[in-house]
Amino acid sequence: MYHSISPSRQPDPHRVRVSPERLDRHLRLLRQLGLRGVPLAELVAAQDGAAATGLVGLTFDDGYADFLRYAAPVLDRHGMTGTLYVVAGRLGGHNAWDTGPRLDLVDADQVRAVAAAGHEVGSHGLTHMRLAGADPGVLRHEVADSKHVLEEVLQREVSGFCYPWGAFDAAAAEAARAAGYDHACVTGDYSPRNRFTIPRSYVAPGDTAVHLVAKLVRHHVRIRRP
Ligand SMILES: [Zn+2]
Repeated sequence: MYHSISPSRQPDPHRVRVSPERLDRHLRLLRQLGLRGVPLAELVAAQDGAAATGLVGLTFDDGYADFLRYAAPVLDRHGMTGTLYVVAGRLGGHNAWDTGPRLDLVDADQVRAVAAAGHEVGSHGLTHMRLAGADPGVLRHEVADSKHVLEEVLQREVSGFCYPWGAFDAAAAEAARAAGYDHACVTGDYSPRNRFTIPRSYVAPGDTAVHLVAKLVRHHVRIRRP
């Protein structure tokens, strides 16, 4: 789980920024290990067919506009693709849910450009609100309406959902299923585990390629634990 990819030197109080050089080193090491980064939807489909060996799901939360400028070229260079989870009600806006520096979010044209470049676009809700404990109407609005907005923009199905703040409960997972998503992902939460609570490992700004591989190994062990 990455967020912003940028060479910016602005303060990063929420630790969401990894530099393009660092991402490049991460992906180079994955490649040297015979691993290939893919969108989460591709990983889930491969797992359904028991053919996921050698694949790593790469996800980028919040739909920062820097994805196209900085992340996509690095991914390209390594023959990899990923998932950008977009806050559907804030297209062309900024990360107003955070107290840190203002970061631009993709607009509708950029959402289309991300998909056209071979990446997956998933939903990260309408406004980036916490869904754990949300009432049914709010859940439906955030989960289902964000899917519709993105599908209208892309003119194709959006099959992946990502809970803002990693905050989910049984009702939020059920809302994702009921809205017609194929799967949804959480953050560092390894239980309960099903296709609407897929765990991910957070990549920190200072993680070296070796840290990344250590996190991958730990993730692999944890998802296999009964
Ligand atoms: Zn987020």
